[in-house]
Amino acid sequence: MTSSNVRTIGFIGAGNMPQSILGGMVKGGYPTTAIMASNPSRPKLDMLEEKYGIYTSQDNHEIAGKADVIVLSVKPQLMRDVCADLAAHVPDLDEKLIITIAAGLRFERYYEYLGNNITLVRVMPNTPSLVGEGVSGLVADDKATQADRDFVTQVFNYVGLTLWLDNEDAIDVLGAVAGSGPAYFFEFMHGLQRAAEDLGFDAEQARAMVQQTAFGAARMAMESDLSLVDLRKQVTSKGGSTAKGIEVYQNAQLSDISKRAVGAAVTRNQEMA
Ligand code: NAP
Repeated sequence: MTSSNVRTIGFIGAGNMPQSILGGMVKGGYPTTAIMASNPSRPKLDMLEEKYGIYTSQDNHEIAGKADVIVLSVKPQLMRDVCADLAAHVPDLDEKLIITIAAGLRFERYYEYLGNNITLVRVMPNTPSLVGEGVSGLVADDKATQADRDFVTQVFNYVGLTLWLDNEDAIDVLGAVAGSGPAYFFEFMHGLQRAAEDLGFDAEQARAMVQQTAFGAARMAMESDLSLVDLRKQVTSKGGSTAKGIEVYQNAQLSDISKRAVGAAVTRNQEMA
């Protein structure tokens, strides 16, 4: 990392998601002196100071004022009040890069709360960012420079894969696939676990078997150039037991079910925007 890639970054809100992002940054070697966070109550800040040695404050104005890059990390329902307060007390917001990780809220909302001249990047991380294996969808407004985009890429690469998207509608789709995706996989995995339990496995062994299989399959997919269909064919001998199992899923139209699930989640994301 060159010093040109280091900017002072201030997280407004120190909950689970900013904790994982800044934890990933520290682990990845980002200088702790360039990371700050604010939060109304002290315990999370004390923990972050102790664990990572970063600067913290209960005063959002102080952190936003000192930071070159502000990461808005409060719950969407608090965003209006938090932004209005920053707009009233931090004089040079237009010269900073603002990143928001809040679900749902669109660019127009932030221009309304913070003024039309801000530079904004919306990021939608997903929960596996908590273990450094996330997917983050990113959309920038027209004012963001290539250097801004590179900086945001660097930050979110610390907690997983980053995908730049062309527009905000794509964020809704990414949310429905990658944001909700862990829940879909847990649902599917739970079904397999229960199937193993019904056939005599205890819960612990069944879960271990299922989660390691999911992990192994994901890793094979990531390390292979083959399409997912070809990978599936590779483990499906004609007339064998896997072929029989796959036939059940195909007869139940699993692909179609996935399409419907994603469609339903996209619709809900759009309703909440
Ligand atoms: P969280 O764990 O509930 O944390 C929210 C934090 O905001 C709390 O530490 C809270 O402090 C703090 N806060 C409340 N009022 C504040 C204020 N006025 N100024 C500054 N901080 C304030 O939430 P989270 O999971 O980190 O989510 C944060 C954002 O990330 C949300 O907008 C969410 O949509 C987005 N996001 C989260 C995920 C995820 O998987 N978690 C995924 C995608 C996007 P107290 O504890 O003191 O009240």
